[in-house]
Amino acid sequence: MYAVVGAGALGYLTAHSIREQFIIIDRDVVEDGNQWYRKEDASKPKVDIISRKLKNAQGIFMDINPASISVLDRADVVIDCTDNMYTRYILNDYCNKTRKRFIFSGIDNTGYSVMHFFRSPCLRCIMPKSSDSFFCTGNIPESILKRAVKAQFSCPESYMIQGNRKFKINKNPECKCCAKHNYEYLKSCSLMVSRSCDSTYIIPRSSAHLAFKNKKTLMHNGISIIIFSNKAAIIKTADAEKSLKIYRKIVA
Ligand SMILES: [Zn+2]
Repeated sequence: MYAVVGAGALGYLTAHSIREQFIIIDRDVVEDGNQWYRKEDASKPKVDIISRKLKNAQGIFMDINPASISVLDRADVVIDCTDNMYTRYILNDYCNKTRKRFIFSGIDNTGYSVMHFFRSPCLRCIMPKSSDSFFCTGNIPESILKRAVKAQFSCPESYMIQGNRKFKINKNPECKCCAKHNYEYLKSCSLMVSRSCDSTYIIPRSSAHLAFKNKKTLMHNGISIIIFSNKAAIIKTADAEKSLKIYRKIVA
């Protein structure tokens, strides 16, 4: 079974090209201006919109992190449609440890890179360390998105497709992940914090495996905060330090 992680512009199209049953996991609600989504769906979880439209999709409104990753146990192919490197390293370690196929997809306004990993080599063979980077792309041309989706399903194992070019990916015999099996990105901490373009996600480990439910939205000093019943919060600023302060004051 496929698992699609991320329901942004790319994940939306990827979901529409899968014919069998699959799961799609995403942590965001629709905002005005999101590509493919309608204005009237604003503030609804993106995965709810997709699973309402596609009968073969099961949407899970959740943050993927070391404490919630077992949500992917049912899948045998994990397709990355996220916008941040941190989550990709978690997915890479998890897929390597559990021997699942991992399809990496990086995309921006000028092009895309899709890589297909199975056991070895892995993402960490070619990019040993994660950065805290994420991509604030805005709307991506439809032609690039469609070509990236095509590559997700056609990229051969241990290859990278980048536009019209195809490269073989080599194994690094010293790779901490696929050679040494040191899965450092699967270690969780009591409070998991990650960022996107305009938000910080704070998730307590104890309930990270629970889907986001029963949200309430409030404002604090002009910053919008969404709090869920499992005490996860989305704070609408990419300033993680500031977000943690707000979280400790209001939620914890
Ligand atoms: Zn590796």
